[in-house]
Amino acid sequence: MFLKGDKVIYSFNPQMKEEYRVKSGDVFTVETHDCFYQQFLKEDFGLEDLDMERVNPATGPIFVEGAEVGDILKVEILDIEVADRGVAAILPGMGFLADTNTEETIEVIPVEDGYAKLLGFDIKVKPMIGVIGVAPKEGDIPTDTPGAHGGNLDTKDIMAGSTLYFPVAKEGALLALGDCHGLMGDGELGVTGLEIAAHVKLKVDVIKDKQLDWPLLETKEDVMLLVSDSDIQGALELGYGETRKLIERSIGCSWNEAGILSSLAVDARISQLVNPFITVRFPISKKILPVDRILEKL
Ligand code: CA
Ligand code: ZN
Repeated sequence: MFLKGDKVIYSFNPQMKEEYRVKSGDVFTVETHDCFYQQFLKEDFGLEDLDMERVNPATGPIFVEGAEVGDILKVEILDIEVADRGVAAILPGMGFLADTNTEETIEVIPVEDGYAKLLGFDIKVKPMIGVIGVAPKEGDIPTDTPGAHGGNLDTKDIMAGSTLYFPVAKEGALLALGDCHGLMGDGELGVTGLEIAAHVKLKVDVIKDKQLDWPLLETKEDVMLLVSDSDIQGALELGYGETRKLIERSIGCSWNEAGILSSLAVDARISQLVNPFITVRFPISKKILPVDRILEKL
């Protein structure tokens, strides 16, 4: 099943109407756009030409049959195939150290045989999804913003081989995704990754009657909550608190024991520092905390 990227959203809200429909257990491929809707790939295109109304499109909403409020939507990322060129930029007044970014630099970057060509270097691409989420319980959350519903999480571990678990707040879950990156470092310091169109192959499954407060991400080795807040201190405190609660509940240890385990075996990592909310993650080895054990205790 191929979902062509002609239907996109620019905000996640409970009122969004389904544009695509799949069943729990389906495998399908989604065509996604880069965060600028490929505008910078046009000849002689400058920042002044950019249509801001078309920034951060997410393909969807995708209604998943069987997903009801109070369930979890499991999304396995089977493959991310990126286009043969993308774009990265420093934009005035944006990014980390925004004050030093006074003029724009926009680089169209070719990708050949899995390597991005930049400043004379060949850098192996590590494709990831920037924006992926479901309908929130309430509100109207622009696709540039991350939150409990997912959205602009810009977390480099959202890659092929990883699995996301989202809280379902609306019938059908209403999944949408876009903003893939060929490459991005933790922090996304400049404000963009290697922004690139892609074909993303997914498998979705509904897990009945399990509630999550934040998206959970499972990688090959680790499991982590993706937590976002308005500033970095807040995001780190909230993320650490939620992670410690998860350990406490899943393992059945005390709050302080969960604190000791975190202190010894959990890293505090920054996903991105440049979106309207900051996203952090605290990976825990699946040898300590298998996903089955987390789900069992939810
Ligand atoms: Ca992004
Ligand atoms: Zn992006």
